[in-house]
Amino acid sequence: MLSRGRSGEQDLVVSFLTAELGLLSAIAKNAARSVRRFGGGLLDPGAVAFYEFRIRGDSGFCLVARGERGPGASAPPGPSPVLGSLAAWALELARVFETPRTPAPEAFAALKGHLRALALADGGPPALAARSLSLGFTGKYLGLAGFGAPLSACSVCGRPPRPPEDWAWDALEPRAVCPSCLPRLDPAAARGLAPVPARLLAALASLSPSESPSPPLPAPEAALAEAFYRALAPAVSGRPFLSAPSLEQYLAPPPAPEAAAPAGLPGAGAAGTPGDEESLAEALAAAEALAEAEGLAGDGGGPAPDAGALPHNGGGET
Ligand SMILES: [Zn+2]
Repeated sequence: MLSRGRSGEQDLVVSFLTAELGLLSAIAKNAARSVRRFGGGLLDPGAVAFYEFRIRGDSGFCLVARGERGPGASAPPGPSPVLGSLAAWALELARVFETPRTPAPEAFAALKGHLRALALADGGPPALAARSLSLGFTGKYLGLAGFGAPLSACSVCGRPPRPPEDWAWDALEPRAVCPSCLPRLDPAAARGLAPVPARLLAALASLSPSESPSPPLPAPEAALAEAFYRALAPAVSGRPFLSAPSLEQYLAPPPAPEAAAPAGLPGAGAAGTPGDEESLAEALAAAEALAEAEGLAGDGGGPAPDAGALPHNGGGET
């Protein structure tokens, strides 16, 4: 189950990735009122189940009559916002890159296996195992969609990336170019290239798909790789990814206590939607006001945890 939207008062419009028919869009009649008819949660994005469809001619739409949990079915990831946003990203990849009514058994199996692995993963920050699963899945999925990134070698001379070099990559080809070959490229051919650190290319090449999990990436590489795919997927599909802003929000490292306001704002403003930007600015302003108020209320009383705790501890030791 990839996505769900309302159609009028009663009906739901849903999209599925099916093993037999690939991507399907369907109407679930009266399902908005009684989702229980579908087994409770079986029309939630991320649900894996058996669904009964009636395909109406070649209208492109189907009617989904009911859903049923079966062997191998798994629940969508739980309440962890990190796992939820990783799952939303995976579902959107399928929705964007699959073609309607075109069976894609390998993509189906990859998505199903990935959702199950995410459901079992630890969603507490920094969730590096879950994030590495997601990166491995993303690489595999883009590969299945024909946008595999042959980034483990220079597209001109064929040598592998050697950190800490600065390479260039082209999202549309896609391809990578080493720093030695870069100056020799025809300027017209080099137009689509953007800088990428070699250590990211090496990290991406080390990830294996979710069936045989590789060791989690360290946090800096994971963050780089996530940013890389957040740019690559929209570039090759030609449309923005709706799940990208929340993914970025939940995967962002927690801001350093002292530098929260100055460090947090520019990063969020660069990629968040205007709405996110506003609400983040409001939240930061509120947090600052609160910290100020607490500071004024009394030095030893209940100051902001980091501002107050450090001097106290330090004082005790010296
Ligand atoms: Zn080269």
